[in-house]
Amino acid sequence: MLNIALFGPPGAGKGTQSEFLIKKYKLFYISTGDMLRKEIKAKSKLGLEAKSIIEQGGLVSDEIIVQIIEKTIKDNSDANGFLFDGFPRTYIQAYILEGLMIKLNTSLNCLINIDVSEKESIKRLLNRGKTSGRSDDNEKVIKNRLKEYKEKTLPVLNFYKEKGNYIKVNGEQTIEGVTKDIDKIIKQELSKNLLNIVIFGYPGSGRGSQGRALAEKFGLEYVATGPMLDAEIKKASKIGKQIKQMYENGLLVPDEIVVKLIEEKIANSEDVKGFIFKGFPRTLVQSYILDGLLKKHNSALSKIIEIEVPTLELIQRLDKRSKTDNCMPYDTSTEKIVQRLKDHELKTIPVIEKYKQLHDVVVVDGMDSFENVFNKLSDEIENGFKNLR
Ligand code: AMP
Repeated sequence: MLNIALFGPPGAGKGTQSEFLIKKYKLFYISTGDMLRKEIKAKSKLGLEAKSIIEQGGLVSDEIIVQIIEKTIKDNSDANGFLFDGFPRTYIQAYILEGLMIKLNTSLNCLINIDVSEKESIKRLLNRGKTSGRSDDNEKVIKNRLKEYKEKTLPVLNFYKEKGNYIKVNGEQTIEGVTKDIDKIIKQELSKNLLNIVIFGYPGSGRGSQGRALAEKFGLEYVATGPMLDAEIKKASKIGKQIKQMYENGLLVPDEIVVKLIEEKIANSEDVKGFIFKGFPRTLVQSYILDGLLKKHNSALSKIIEIEVPTLELIQRLDKRSKTDNCMPYDTSTEKIVQRLKDHELKTIPVIEKYKQLHDVVVVDGMDSFENVFNKLSDEIENGFKNLR
């Protein structure tokens, strides 16, 4: 989930910016002000209680706010996330929001403060008052709203500054400028929520076909270094030519090249829910590189999966594949097949051992039909998404 609170004095542009955010990121919008105005219009008991307070520019009680918010959040617990506008407005409401998030087994990513001076805020509200039809957009009430803001709402910022999830943007630039700044923040937040999986297994264990199918099913980006290198050769790019030369001379492709390609892939992946890495990391060094790459994007490894298949079965599968159209350049002789298995044993098994000490490595039995293995892996990924909160 992506949960964001938009903060700022009346007139900062929270409503305007929200329109863009809910559309782009499909968030459920919660504006306590709008909800209260709806209650007033419907002449509900809650609305009647809130009406005179709003008309004087005061803040309605926390009890009322909890009542209108709680149900909405619960009813929409399957949303992509929530965008709060006008809430939390008091230090107490910041605690209330924490509690509501805990109830949904999630948390607030951050509070974004659209920073606007008092002078600018008054100017904008008076202007808005000419067309908004809002009874609280007039000079006398505006003064009171700003007084309440300074006394009761500004302390909310300290709550988030202390928690470390407070971010400020300059609200006195063009609407597009503010949108751009907020969008950048959200993108950073989203990358913290990525589900990053490494799928291990000996050559022939099915990690490639499973990885590709899983990526498709869950909206993950499949990052397989082998095919990425092949694609560069096919494109005959500068890197591709270097790689080809190395292949032809029996040399290993250096980490600098592999890392560059992965980095590009991560940077160019928009709207993905995470990554599935296959064939990388292959060595202990590469496992540190992957940690570094993900950290640079404010992200981290979420899950390690190992597909286990007995050696005899692997040799049978690879030998069979070598006689089909799916034959890989490295399947063509027994010698090559054995070399690949050996490489895995020597270089990659230590990586899995390292991960076993640091993470929960899920071992899945690969001696089953494609569908059964796929279903087991899917369950693991679904769990992974749940644990992202
Ligand atoms: P807004 O539309 O956010 O500017 O809110 C309009 C008015 O609704 C405010 O001046 C308050 O009287 C009331 N209100 C909105 N949200 C809250 C809240 N979280 N806590 C208390 N009062 C609120």
